[in-house]
Amino acid sequence: MAPNRGARHRVLVLGGGLSGTLAAAALAPHGGSVVIVERHTLPQTPKPRRGLPQARHAHMLWSGGADAIESLLPGTLEMLLHAGAHRISIPNGMISLSPGGWYRRCWPEAQYLISAGRDLVDWAVRSQALARPGVHLLSAAEPVRLLGTRARITGAVVRHRDGVEEALEADLVIDATGRSSRAPQWLAELGIPAVPETVVDAGVTYASRRYKAPVDTAGWPVINVQADARLPMAGTAGTILPIEGGEWMVSLSGTRGGEPTSDETQFAAFARRLRSPLIAEYLARAEPRGPVTIARNTANRRRHYEKARLNGFIALGDSSTALNPLYGHGMSAAAQGALALRDLCTGGNIAAKGFARRAQHAIARPAAAAWLLALGQDAAFPHAVGKKPGFADRLAAGYINRLITTACSDFTVVEALTDVMTLQARATVLAHPQVLLAAIRGPRLPPLGGPALTPAEEAVLLGRPAPTRPATAPPLGGPEWGEVSR
Ligand SMILES: Cc1cc2nc3c(=O)[nH]c(=O)nc-3n(C[C@H](O)[C@H](O)[C@H](O)COP(=O)(O)OP(=O)(O)OC[C@H]3O[C@@H](n4cnc5c(N)ncnc54)[C@H](O)[C@@H]3O)c2cc1C
Repeated sequence: MAPNRGARHRVLVLGGGLSGTLAAAALAPHGGSVVIVERHTLPQTPKPRRGLPQARHAHMLWSGGADAIESLLPGTLEMLLHAGAHRISIPNGMISLSPGGWYRRCWPEAQYLISAGRDLVDWAVRSQALARPGVHLLSAAEPVRLLGTRARITGAVVRHRDGVEEALEADLVIDATGRSSRAPQWLAELGIPAVPETVVDAGVTYASRRYKAPVDTAGWPVINVQADARLPMAGTAGTILPIEGGEWMVSLSGTRGGEPTSDETQFAAFARRLRSPLIAEYLARAEPRGPVTIARNTANRRRHYEKARLNGFIALGDSSTALNPLYGHGMSAAAQGALALRDLCTGGNIAAKGFARRAQHAIARPAAAAWLLALGQDAAFPHAVGKKPGFADRLAAGYINRLITTACSDFTVVEALTDVMTLQARATVLAHPQVLLAAIRGPRLPPLGGPALTPAEEAVLLGRPAPTRPATAPPLGGPEWGEVSR
């Protein structure tokens, strides 16, 4: 249904990406109309679109984000799985080389992630949000300035594709236009002082390519070789995500001084130079589909809108907190922010003075948790630009490194780290006495000599047909699957 032009809208959402559609879903139940203003025309199916270049790179949706999306839009996960997304258990569904060594895979599920192409995730969320009563999409239109005064933002002027400008008034304006947000300039035009901004940039470049998987991707794990920020060299990493359509989405990355390129002939060679050649060995068995795509705009950038005393305006998602994608937290932090917004609206009046400030504080909480996790690693990479780690940061990083090493053979620690990484628990769980004790005790078993692979996973590497029956997990605490020296 088209928005009623010229009418007073309760909420104006700028940007129709994941954050914008989730914000609309959060606010729609609270009455009035929600209009999403999106620069591009959005497709009806999960196909690539303009305005979402990052969709050509691997996107993990951690359970903290997936649960938030499901709470806002019940049925979305079912829709994703039905369309070919995979639900993968963590830690047992990941073959992962952390800075502390290879993770064991004999543990029960602690959390999960949704593995899918980004276009599919956005399509499912968008379809669900736009079906909500009161939610309208105004596509092929973009905001040119905000309406209002220093005291209160009261809407925005949008320009339609034919060049016609229109003033849309609203009780609340939400900026969800992503990393390229022009909100700082729009606010400055109203005489509002600049919002403080923090940037930490490890100079991460992503190179990604899709492959036709050599196996049925159902039940296939995520393969992940992480960088080690303690090494005095650029951090290189790689991930294979099984996605819909029988494909693997493969992303490789390097921090400043160790960046991958778009050269197709160098893609597998880069993978071979990671801390383990496992990804390269799997790529040798798979068939590339399409070119290598590069992303360089990956800095951690936080605009502290929660510190500004704004009325009638909030920012959600990358427009307020953009994170280094290596840790896969952007979508989940945005979804948890939208959920916090919904919960605050229950019984609250979005037009009331002080609402926007309270909402921005609530949104900032999950974003700040993800921010601290990213900075703990990124500030340590050589050539990182921005905040340098102080004594307390180095102490915290030392403790986290100890936990990561212990996690390779201790379920208490694996579980705590997994809960934090998936944004299901605050980082304070890492200071729980049981976790502290485990960290003091250190690893319970010697490190694995290589990845623990199931017979089916090993068969692919050997070019053999996979066993017909998928292997079940080895018993808890029992011997691991064959460790392969890689
Ligand atoms: C290489 C890479 C890999 C990533 N991997 C992960 C991952 O594994 N897991 C994860 O959770 N996150 C990941 N992220 C982060 C994730 O992509 C972002 O956090 C997420 O897209 C934020 O959503 P958003 O809606 O805030 O912004 P966006 O997705 O950027 O959406 C912004 C929307 O606003 C529209 N828009 C922009 N400007 C205007 C304007 N002026 N007027 C109207 N509309 C406008 C755009 O067309 C778009 O629809 C990755 C990012 C990158 C770059």
